[in-house]
Amino acid sequence: MNNKVRVRFAPSPTGGLHLGGMRTVLYNYLFARKHGGDFILRIEDTDQSRYVAGAEEYILECLKWCGLNPDESPQTGGAYGPYKQSERKSIYKEYAERLIKDGKAYYAFDTSEELETMRSKYKTLENPSPQYDKTLRAQMRNSIALSDNETKHLLEINTPFVIRIKVPENETVSFTDMIRGEVNFNTSTIDDKVLLKADGMPTYHLAVVVDDYLMKITHAFRGEEWLPSAPVHILLWRYLFGEENMPQWAHLPLILKPDGNGKLSKRDGDRLGFPVYAMNWIDPKTKELTKGFRELGFLPEAFINMLAVLGWNDGTEQELFSLEELIEKFSIDRVHKNGAKFNYEKAKWFNHEWIKKLPVDNWQLTVKNSFEEKGIVINDDKKFNTVLELVKDRCTLLPDFFEQASFFFKSPETIDITAIQPKWNDLKKQFFAELIRAYSLATEWQHDDLEKEFKEMAAAHQIKAGELLLPFRIMLVGGKFGPGVFDIAVLLGREETIHRIKHTLQLLH
Ligand code: GLU
Repeated sequence: MNNKVRVRFAPSPTGGLHLGGMRTVLYNYLFARKHGGDFILRIEDTDQSRYVAGAEEYILECLKWCGLNPDESPQTGGAYGPYKQSERKSIYKEYAERLIKDGKAYYAFDTSEELETMRSKYKTLENPSPQYDKTLRAQMRNSIALSDNETKHLLEINTPFVIRIKVPENETVSFTDMIRGEVNFNTSTIDDKVLLKADGMPTYHLAVVVDDYLMKITHAFRGEEWLPSAPVHILLWRYLFGEENMPQWAHLPLILKPDGNGKLSKRDGDRLGFPVYAMNWIDPKTKELTKGFRELGFLPEAFINMLAVLGWNDGTEQELFSLEELIEKFSIDRVHKNGAKFNYEKAKWFNHEWIKKLPVDNWQLTVKNSFEEKGIVINDDKKFNTVLELVKDRCTLLPDFFEQASFFFKSPETIDITAIQPKWNDLKKQFFAELIRAYSLATEWQHDDLEKEFKEMAAAHQIKAGELLLPFRIMLVGGKFGPGVFDIAVLLGREETIHRIKHTLQLLH
């Protein structure tokens, strides 16, 4: 009996990884870490027709970005490899044959035309697409309907076949889901799913069960969309391996559209203007780009935090959790049964909070690179960090830093003169001319000294300091934004501050 917790994330590499998939990764990871277990990445690529080049690398990169690295995977290897189902093809056949021997599965030789004929023949208004199941299997060309000799002959002459599960009639398949409690299915609703395809590849149903068994998976977390497949997996598991080592199942609630109407899809993101993928994804065929959280400027800490609480809470009012805290506090009993509505504004709130919470060094490099991409080379890291620290309260997404801070490193491209002009007069002009003189002579270039000088001079000119601060700000940053104006002046330095005042005075002529 294997007691060590072993969980798996088992994606099919068919495209970008959306929020639901990432949350499955996260819950798997948290559960494994919390219980000192193993987190396995298994690539389920048996359906070659749906395989998308680059998707596997993309999935790995998403996990890496979030710091949710698997203990065993196609890349790292491990004691239960290979971890890619296409490399395990030879393993599955034996299990499919075992099921046939035990009377739990059968060979089906039907061609696609025969299947089509069956569908049109039995189609009714209530049942527009009849399934291959116990009610129809006797009418079809399979090893149940045919005699043993006929079956043997067809196999001998290499007739293409698939292997199908023989779903029992009118039985109840029950299991306890860790989130939903007891779940029951009547087998009358389940069709005889294909287990092994004509090309010898297993379908997902057979592969998932065999691999969960061979990889000693103890808990299987996956999206709710897999719930209808669960009875097939449970039947297969019982037929092949008995009850004993069956993993505990947990079907995670869906992530819903912001209005709560149905599952969140990639199209909702495009339509409503927010990301649903962890990272940018470019479809290799259409070259269409789907934007990701990473490239839009989310911190992985915020992304993980936001995902964790989409469908889970720790029972308190706490909303901000680090990965370490999540590991400590996560429990499956507190995962909600109902779907969780995605809220992009809330996702941004998490990012803003994490920008404020984390030391600048955690994300400085990403912001620095974004500055360099826009032509601002940062030579002085210390100054850069001070600037980031100063403006971080005003930033929600990482690209906001460029808007909020590029003027520290480059003169503003435009100066919003129209915001100064209406209240501009000779007295103010005189004030700034004298300010230039005073600032040129100032012995200290420090916040309090600069402020004191400014205010005293305002008083001497009998102008309210408040009326002068806005023009001063616009002179330094180009517009009505930014942190404290004397903090800005300190960081710009004497020469640049004076230069910017002079430049604006000329424009005001
Ligand atoms: N390969 C399935 C998927 O693409 C995994 C389902 C499961 O975890 O059992 O989502």
